[in-house]
Amino acid sequence: MSHDHGAGGHHPGELSDGEVRARALESLFREKGYIKGNVVDEIIDTYTHDIGPLNGARAVAKAWVDPDYRERLLADATSALKELGIGGLQGEHMVAVPNTDDVHNVVVCTLCSCYPWPVLGLPPRWYKDAPYRARVVREPRKVLAEFGTTLPDETNIQVWDSSAEVRYLVVPQRPAGTEGLNEEDLVPLITRDSMIGVTLPAVPSEAVAK
Ligand code: FE
Repeated sequence: MSHDHGAGGHHPGELSDGEVRARALESLFREKGYIKGNVVDEIIDTYTHDIGPLNGARAVAKAWVDPDYRERLLADATSALKELGIGGLQGEHMVAVPNTDDVHNVVVCTLCSCYPWPVLGLPPRWYKDAPYRARVVREPRKVLAEFGTTLPDETNIQVWDSSAEVRYLVVPQRPAGTEGLNEEDLVPLITRDSMIGVTLPAVPSEAVAK
């Protein structure tokens, strides 16, 4: 049986280089008195439980049911998100890009891992990985297919490269079969990945049954 974990691989229970460095920094900061108590755990907990993709999903659901809000979101996402109390660090300049029948949008940070934290919460691991960052620009259709997203050949795929200045939110199209759903019921259909643009929103089970 092969026991090769590859470069940078590590056994379960062992810490990766990044984890070791993070812990070393945390102990150093603690020793110097820069951080006290559970502040690091609290920040992680906040991003895991309180600030998540639900924020972005609330904005997209509102844009689906309220054409005026959609217009404001597309014109100035930063202030439209602020209307819902969404904003802050890493989300100071947001741009919302709408999917249409002709254009599908997908977001990447080719340089590092810039990501709209206050809107989508913790970035997925693959978003920060070199293969996604390089390949989604070169062969977006193929990368999307690997996420299970097959688009019609005539749909153009627009790739948006995030930066320290601008972070993007993909506004997916409202799925067919959701006409009877209200804003609150639409929220769970709008997944994190659909707002990065690698997938489409979930289709409600009632729509599938029809
Ligand atoms: Fe980056």
